[in-house]
Formats: sequence, structure tokens, C-alpha cells
Amino acid sequence: MPVKIVIPTPMQRYTMNKEELEVGGATVDHALAHVAENYPDIKKHLFNDNGTVRSFVNVYVNDEDSRYLQGGQTAIKDGDTLTIVPSIAGGLDAVGMGGAPSFHLAQDPDQEQLSNDEVLRYSRHLIMPEVTMEGQKRLKAAKVLCVGTGGLGAPLTMYLAAAGVGTIGLVDFDTVDVTNLQRQIVHRESSIGKPKIDSAEQTLKEINPYVNIVKHEVMLTSDNALDILKDYDIIADGTDNFQTRYLVNDACVLLGKPNVYGSIFRFEGQATVFFAQDGPCYRCLYPEPPPPGMVPSCAEGGVLGVLPGIIGVIQAIETVKLILGEGQPLIGRLMLFNALKMSFRELKLRKNPECPICSAHPTLTHLIDYDEFCGIGRGDDAPVSLSDDEEITATQMKAKQDGGDKFTLLDVREPYEYAIGHIPGSKLMPLGTVKARLHELDTAQDIVVHCKSGKRSAEALGILQSAGFKKVKNLTGGILAWSDDVDPTVPKY
Ligand SMILES: [Zn+2]
Repeated sequence: MPVKIVIPTPMQRYTMNKEELEVGGATVDHALAHVAENYPDIKKHLFNDNGTVRSFVNVYVNDEDSRYLQGGQTAIKDGDTLTIVPSIAGGLDAVGMGGAPSFHLAQDPDQEQLSNDEVLRYSRHLIMPEVTMEGQKRLKAAKVLCVGTGGLGAPLTMYLAAAGVGTIGLVDFDTVDVTNLQRQIVHRESSIGKPKIDSAEQTLKEINPYVNIVKHEVMLTSDNALDILKDYDIIADGTDNFQTRYLVNDACVLLGKPNVYGSIFRFEGQATVFFAQDGPCYRCLYPEPPPPGMVPSCAEGGVLGVLPGIIGVIQAIETVKLILGEGQPLIGRLMLFNALKMSFRELKLRKNPECPICSAHPTLTHLIDYDEFCGIGRGDDAPVSLSDDEEITATQMKAKQDGGDKFTLLDVREPYEYAIGHIPGSKLMPLGTVKARLHELDTAQDIVVHCKSGKRSAEALGILQSAGFKKVKNLTGGILAWSDDVDPTVPKY
């Protein structure tokens, strides 16, 4: 019986870019096995070596997490929709849907006063029955920490500032780069090169001078996270890496604070509120991070510039709702947004009774080493180290060309990268196709392999060497180095 399987964007490269598949099967496991049969490349992303579904891949049957049905044995019927929800860089009791969360502000809102200028500024709030003077004082008393002032943090902090959230903390240690401006609208052309928190502070102060901005120009770590987070009522997570996701989650659970979550990739976004006292935490949704390299980051996979606007604004709305104590928060619900389809879907999240940090008997009672937990700094993510005679610099390669040396220049990037710019005379062979196209290359000839920065080409060099190619070198620093050192007309991206 055919069921529809919704493939998430990061995995569509293994299904020939198909986002929906129709397969047969009586259970979840059968259906997934059929997907793996039809698209063998996806298999290792869905299944462990022992054939069970990987723990960072959640499979929903319609809007229910299959782990809380019968797992892989869950029976499926004609017309059901299976949704694969991977992590993107969240008692079996139903969780607090509809009820007011057990959230309180640290500072008493009744102690706040609004000046006449502030009353005028917030007048469209004050006449709403859900806000009124009381709600506006709650906003003024609230302290919200935004981790990251990038794509999500930009709309999030701008709307929180405009709404009159009294204290906004910013955590970021990066500087503004021109590639940020396509989506990080809190930063401006004039801020390029400046610390992001200074640039964000300037914009936020221009939006609303009554807001107190607290800057934390640090990288959030296990050593400083509890100390920084403890002074805030709500944490909004706008980061782009799994280490910080787990760190923010665990610190929020340990401190009893809500974590307003958003994540983005290409055209898709996710948002929810993790608040362990009333619902699940990030670890309930994703017990384990994906192995490094399995899920591409926005820097590698790209992101539509407008997308963080939607997800960051959802985070801002959820933050304001929590502060006001109004409406139904996204606690226990995962919102999935697809910009290409212009569709929102909602999946139920449940608290894992065996969650290592938010269950009744946690095994994790303090912050850990998150780089180690996420496998960063070892294995796949570490740069491949090559010996000196396996590397060639851009200037050395130019000299080789000018000297009339015959060699094949192999570009292992993707066609859309080649279209941005390429080195004349290079042969395009995307990394994923190298193994299948070895016959196009001559073992007797010198080969120089290049990509954007040198990492993928080092991998390609390994593939060529294992196939018996001995005269292969890697262009150190890739086409970026070529642009810097030889030909600045080749655009950088
Ligand atoms: Zn949990």
C-alpha cells in the first residue's frame, strides 16, 4: 500500500532531489527499507550498521513521533504520510498543549514604570487586551538572552527591541562579514569588520533607545554558559552548530529556563519552545547529534536570505507570548516551515521519560564537553592532512602553467560553484562523481585537484591515490587562494 514519505532538504541529494517519495510497506521499517533499496546512497544516513534507524533521525507517522507508537513496527496504511525529521546546524504523557506554562519573570513587573514617551511609543500594544499597561511592564521587566546575532538573531532581536523587551543580552564573538548581509538584517554595510554585538547594539538602539543591551563578546562554553544564562528569564537560541545547541539546551534545563528554538536550512525551518518543566527538551527530540559532516551547515548548503526572517520572527513571537503569559506556546509542538511550498506543518513533541537531562532521574547533572559529544575536532571534521609533496600553492601552480608544464586541473566542486567562477582550463568533476569517472583521467599525467578551500579536493586526492594515481597534488587553499594570490578577477564566495 502506497504511503508518502517526505524527505527533508538535507537528504534530498540522496533521492535525486525528490522531496516526496511514494513507497509500499506495511510498517515504518518496511517503508524505509524500500526507500533505501531505491536510493542506496541514503541508507547510511537513515540506518546504523546493525540496520536500525539512526537515533538523530526521527520518523513521524502523520503528526505522531513513531518512537511513541510502535517504533519501526508501527503499522502504516494507504494514504499515511511519513515525515523524516533530522537534526538541522529539539512518562509518555502528552505535554502541556494549551495550558499556560509555569514561567515567571525574575523581576517584579509592578516595579516598572513607563514614561510618557514610552506610553506613546507602545500605544498600539497598550490598547490590546492581551497586553495593556500590565503586559508592557512585563515586557520591560523581562530579560532575554539571544545566543547568536546572525540570521535568526537579527529579526528576533530587532522585534524584541521594538516591542519593548527591557533587557536584551547578545552573545556573539564574530565580526560582520559581507556574506552575512544577505540575511542578517541587523547588520549594515557600514558595520563590515566590526564586532557583531557592537553592530547589533547600534541598530537595536536606533530602533528603541529605551532598551538595555547587554553584550557578551564570548564564545559560549561549558565554563561560562551557566554564569551568563542565569541572569536571563528566557534564552533564544539562534546558533548554527550542534555543540552550542546541546550546550544551550542543557544549561536551560539545569537552570529551569525556557529555550526558544529556531533552525534553518535552505528553504526549510524549524521552531519550537523547549521548556523542560512543561514539556520536552532538545535532547528528547534529538538524543544524539549527527556525525560531523553528515548534515551540511548553512555555509556549505546555503540558506534563502528571507527564511531566517520567518523563523526568527516566530521565535520573537513565542518569546513575547511567554513574557505576557498569553496564548498557547509552541511547547511540545515542532513547527516545520517550507518556503518553497509556503506550508507550515506541526508535529507533536513528547518528553522522553528516559531523557538523560530532563527526565525524573537524569544521568546528566552538569555541563559536559560538547565538542567531544558532537565529535568535533576528531574524525571526519578534522582537515585531511597532506604531506608537502602532495600540496601545491596557487603561485606554484601558476608558474607550472606559465612554464608550459602539461597537467590536468581537476575541479571537484559542484556545477553551481563552477558557474560562480572557475580557473580557465579546469575540468569539472564534482567530488561525488569522481569514483565513477576515474576512466576519464590518465594515470600517467600530472593532476592538480582543487575545490573551494582545499578540503574536498584533499578527499578527492585520497580517492585518486587509492585508485593508483601517483602524480596527484592538492591546490592548497583552493580557488580562494587562486583568487587571492594569482587572479583576483576570479570571484570569491
Ligand atoms: Zn529532555
